[in-house]
Amino acid sequence: MERFEYAHPTTQREAIGLLGSNWNDAAVLAGGTDLISLMKEYVVSPKRIVNIKNVEGLNGIHSNAEGVTLGSLVTMDELVENETIRAEFPALTQAAEGITSPQIRAMGTVGGELCQRPRCWYFRNGYGLLAKDENGKSLVPEGENRYHAILGNSGPAYFVNPSSLAPALIALGAKLQLTGPKGQREVSASEFFVIPKSDNERENVLKPNEMLTHIVIPASSRGFRSATYEVRHKTALDWPLAAAAIAVKMEGGRVREGRVVLGHVAPIPWQAREAAKELEGKSITDGTAVTVGEAAVRGAKPLSQNAYKVRLATVAVKRALLAAAKGEA
Ligand SMILES: Cc1cc2nc3c(=O)[nH]c(=O)nc-3n(C[C@H](O)[C@H](O)[C@H](O)COP(=O)(O)OP(=O)(O)OC[C@H]3O[C@@H](n4cnc5c(N)ncnc54)[C@H](O)[C@@H]3O)c2cc1C
Repeated sequence: MERFEYAHPTTQREAIGLLGSNWNDAAVLAGGTDLISLMKEYVVSPKRIVNIKNVEGLNGIHSNAEGVTLGSLVTMDELVENETIRAEFPALTQAAEGITSPQIRAMGTVGGELCQRPRCWYFRNGYGLLAKDENGKSLVPEGENRYHAILGNSGPAYFVNPSSLAPALIALGAKLQLTGPKGQREVSASEFFVIPKSDNERENVLKPNEMLTHIVIPASSRGFRSATYEVRHKTALDWPLAAAAIAVKMEGGRVREGRVVLGHVAPIPWQAREAAKELEGKSITDGTAVTVGEAAVRGAKPLSQNAYKVRLATVAVKRALLAAAKGEA
């Protein structure tokens, strides 16, 4: 690990003032479960670490007529244990429950989970975010790509977004509040994640001198039934191979509005709009669930080793949809 300066501000203004104009100037430290590993492996070497754990106003889960607001420092444990979220937005609780490590649940924060860096093994082994060789060509298409993207993978990025919470938050229409030197701005969770075009860009719209402060799930999403289904190689200490979050608004036994978001299959959480359209006006049966699952992966372009993920994503959508319809996981 490179030497670094350590700061522990107590106000948001102070924290923002300690961040820099380049990613290498400073990094936000929340639970540290991802950042510290990246630093130990020299994947990132910020000159300053800004520990936000003591910053006021970033804790707690608050519910009111406008919706539910989560501070970015809410831990996975706090999220899983929150009965309001479990009752109103089960897709989010189920997504957090998939992260089974007690240590990660105790230390990892919602903000850190959304901003965690890709698990692509080329990136984690020093080949940069876009995994390029010395001639600037991506190593992924002809390399070890079994865990890489099957959608949104026309390049130059082939990694998958690692967040388990993001698909659920997008399906629930959440908004993310970001704070920087010019004050606060709000972006929808669906627009927060972006596909980088160069190694110097990031996987989300945060600027180097901004931080994520709150996540707001609007009251309008209370009328939706929701569920998350993940397909994992093993249940502990791993990331899903494919996942789906579904939110459906029912009227007279039929879907009035549906949202289908896939996780771990593309460089961003993947909004399967065709699949959502397929749902409209239908009652949810096994047959509908199969059709919607197939629509969700239409356009998938698997790489040499990951065609299996197409089937997993189809199954994840089908099972999430049936669970959402029943109102159970
Ligand atoms: C073995 C293992 C298995 C895992 N399995 C899963 C899984 O299945 N699904 C899943 O989603 N995750 C999984 N994780 C990842 C885990 O969820 C994250 O490491 C954790 O949530 C990160 O939160 P943190 O608070 O520790 O973030 P940190 O490590 O402190 O930060 C992570 C990144 O986010 C940035 N950051 C943190 N907070 C903010 C903020 N408020 N504003 C701006 N930037 C910020 C940091 O600068 C850093 O780049 C796993 C991790 C491990 C080690």
